[in-house]
Amino acid sequence: MLFNHSVKTGRRNEFVDVTFVVADRIKESKVKSGICVVYVPHTTAGITINENADPSVKADILSQLEKLVPYGAGYSHMEGNADSHIKASIIGHSVHLIIEEGSPVLGTWQGIFFCEFDGPRSRRLYIEIIPDR
Ligand code: ZN
Repeated sequence: MLFNHSVKTGRRNEFVDVTFVVADRIKESKVKSGICVVYVPHTTAGITINENADPSVKADILSQLEKLVPYGAGYSHMEGNADSHIKASIIGHSVHLIIEEGSPVLGTWQGIFFCEFDGPRSRRLYIEIIPDR
C-alpha cells in the first residue's frame, strides 16, 4: 500500500521529524506486521533515522555536513547546488522499518527525519507498507 505525503521545508538545510507521519500511515493501512519503506524521490533531499530527543544532534549532523561539503566550494555542477546533491547522497534516499503490532519498531531515542538540503521547498515522501502475510 503506497502513501504519498507532502513535506514543507522552511530552510535550505533542515531536518523535519516525520516519525508521526509514518506511524499514522501504518495505522491507517491496518497492517499489524510487516515492512515499511520510506522513500524520498528527490536529488537534493534524503531521509535518515537518528536521535529525536536532543535537538542538538540534528544541529550537529547538519553543521558537520556543512563543514564536509561547504556551499559554493568550486564544484562542477552549474546549478549552484552541488553541495545539496552530495549531502543527499551521503544521507541516502530511503529507510526501512519493521512493523510490529501496527507500529514502527524504533528505539527509545530514534526518530525519522526528512533531510532537506536545498530548501525551502515543497517535497514528497513515499511510504510503502508491505504486510508479511
Ligand atoms: Zn542541481
